[in-house]
Amino acid sequence: MNRNILAACLLATIVLIPAGAQTVSFPDDITYDPYFSADIRDGAGNLFRVHNLSYRLPGEEADFFIAPNREDRAKYYFWVTRGSDAGLATYALDFRKIQAIRFLPEDDSPEDILPDGGGYAPSEFTLTDGSVFTGWLKTEGFLGGVDEEFGVRVSLNLAYGTLSTIDFRHTGTYSRCPFCGALFYDTGLEACPFDTTPLLPQNGG
Ligand SMILES: [Zn+2]
Repeated sequence: MNRNILAACLLATIVLIPAGAQTVSFPDDITYDPYFSADIRDGAGNLFRVHNLSYRLPGEEADFFIAPNREDRAKYYFWVTRGSDAGLATYALDFRKIQAIRFLPEDDSPEDILPDGGGYAPSEFTLTDGSVFTGWLKTEGFLGGVDEEFGVRVSLNLAYGTLSTIDFRHTGTYSRCPFCGALFYDTGLEACPFDTTPLLPQNGG
């Protein structure tokens, strides 16, 4: 990967990064969100490796470009629904717990019933603890971050049928930069893209 381009893009966003739910505070009062990374494949087989990954609701996709880490809009989870005889359960499934998502063909839908409101895609979820389940991923909204190949910000439409797989580049573990404190859920990073300090694995990563 071209780390110089990635670092330049990430550096350009630093001043825009506000506090979030899982942030680290710094003496200069700047806080940083955790950085996720994933390989995303579309229905045609094209591969997008995206860093600083987050999820946005419909109509907020422009934030990927003008306010990449805006506190109230950058989300680090997907809405996931599971069906059962007793009804439907909806989860905010944290990126940290997700290893991979595979979108299923419509006729492989895991249940006969669909959640009200539509906008859900039948999917198979593999979690970092190894468990696998089928359910629905809410496909309203956008997934975005910094595209590694182009070195610029990207927005991917989650609408059903556009994506094939999402493989997160972590195993539930993360690294921490001992210099700036940023957290990286990205097994491909060995040094901090902000300050090139070697990253320290945390929680067994
Ligand atoms: Zn750093």
